[in-house]
Amino acid sequence: MAASKPVCKLVSHVIVDLDGTLLNTDSVANQILKSFLAKLGKKWDSKSAHRIVGRTPLEAAAAVVEDYQLPYSKEEFLSMITPLFADQWCNIRPLAGANRLIKHLRSNGVPMALASNSPKSNIEAKISCHNGWKESFSAIVGGDEVEDGKPSPNIFLEAAKRMNTEPSSCLVIEDSVAGVTAGNAAEMEVIAVPSIPKQVDKLSSASEVVNSLLDLQPEKWGLPQFEDCTLPIEPWYIGGPVIKGFGRGSKVLGIPTANLSAESFSDILSEHTSGVYFGWAALFTRGIYKMVMNIGWNPYFANTEKTIEPWLLHEFDEDFYGEELRLAIIGYIKPEANFPSLESLIARIHEDGRIAEKALDLPLYAAYRDSPYLTNPLPESNS
Ligand code: ADP
Ligand code: MG
Repeated sequence: MAASKPVCKLVSHVIVDLDGTLLNTDSVANQILKSFLAKLGKKWDSKSAHRIVGRTPLEAAAAVVEDYQLPYSKEEFLSMITPLFADQWCNIRPLAGANRLIKHLRSNGVPMALASNSPKSNIEAKISCHNGWKESFSAIVGGDEVEDGKPSPNIFLEAAKRMNTEPSSCLVIEDSVAGVTAGNAAEMEVIAVPSIPKQVDKLSSASEVVNSLLDLQPEKWGLPQFEDCTLPIEPWYIGGPVIKGFGRGSKVLGIPTANLSAESFSDILSEHTSGVYFGWAALFTRGIYKMVMNIGWNPYFANTEKTIEPWLLHEFDEDFYGEELRLAIIGYIKPEANFPSLESLIARIHEDGRIAEKALDLPLYAAYRDSPYLTNPLPESNS
């Protein structure tokens, strides 16, 4: 049996990092660097992204200049790319669960600070694009306001000071190695939410590592727990012919899952964190059905490939391999988990099915049944 988790320290204040933790800055940074380097005849390798994540802008610039042997000083390079970033501030999207976390802590009166290696003016420009963010932070500390950025603890210590609290009352939420190191050095509790999955090992000094902000359990730290049992997400759509899966859905679990080709969707799947989701499923010749699905590696079966496993909440008299299946994924239920037994896994999937079944009757989710992506290709009689 796994050792029981140590009891974590309780906190009253939260300090969050911005880039890579609340905002998906990396994808915009990758695009900008890719096109900048292309003009110099060089190819951006997203694998070197770990050298810039969590660093100050000048450190990140120095790493790129060195890695790609650019004919500029780090200062020159930084001054060339800064305007390119400034043009894109409002195109940086919140990461899954960021809005929910901010709203939750704010509405429960938990003081929150934002602490980022970015200069304060950049932080303010970035968060001004998101409704309700600026007013939710009782302190905002930029890398230019302290002597040393992360991994030095200074930014976090300054944030605690501005919230009039002790470092030991603060919980830091961070995606980068530099940030986790800084949080530890500040003697704060640290939750790591890795933005680069391969760095999980390097983040093990955090008190806890979670897969995404959706998986935070604030109650573990003495903070109010999330009360939503389903969470609306920005809808996304995926579809294609139903293929043969691992052949274990009906056989092993008694729960058939209509598989789509994971290969064709590896890009879109990599954007969505693993977990249990739900939404609507359309089969062109049959109709539109409620659906619950797992995205991930299925810890119980330890798959090597990330897959999606949609279970249509309807009894069919026959298989429908090869038929076009379209999915609108609109809500999140919970993180992917492992189970001590097959029975407990099956029971949990049925419970997720019941949650999805009920949630999809709520107007919030029911509306997506009429999404053009699902209804357009269906014959009149079926819609
Ligand atoms: P596989 O591993 O090939 O996906 P499963 O045991 O998971 O096999 O069965 C899935 C197949 O069962 C689907 O491809 C579909 O043709 C059929 N099926 C029947 N009822 C359902 C349902 N309610 N939800 C999903 N698939 C279903
Ligand atoms: Mg299946």
